[in-house]
Amino acid sequence: MLGAAVTSRWHLTVERRRVMRVVVDLNRCQGYAQCAFLAPDVFAMHGEEALLYDARPDDTRRVDVLRAVAACPVRAIAVEGAGGKRAADRMGVPDGA
Ligand code: SF4
Repeated sequence: MLGAAVTSRWHLTVERRRVMRVVVDLNRCQGYAQCAFLAPDVFAMHGEEALLYDARPDDTRRVDVLRAVAACPVRAIAVEGAGGKRAADRMGVPDGA
């Protein structure tokens, strides 16, 4: 029983590290599309102004997403999890971006 609990806890820890959550402030987004260029698997323009995005992209897209965060001219993209916050800090992305 203890083994199962330990395994389950370890599993949750691993899952927590691998889950990345992307949030775009669509009130701030101006449709410049840099994010769609840098991470096309995660962000896509629909028409000239509407941005569609995957809020839970696979962790393999993390570097592309962080590049998109850094490139967004209005700091509309925020990333949580998968080291996103710390990585964004290292890239000079301010809190609440
Ligand atoms: S780079 Fe920023 S402003 Fe441009 S479409 Fe993406 S989220 Fe919007």
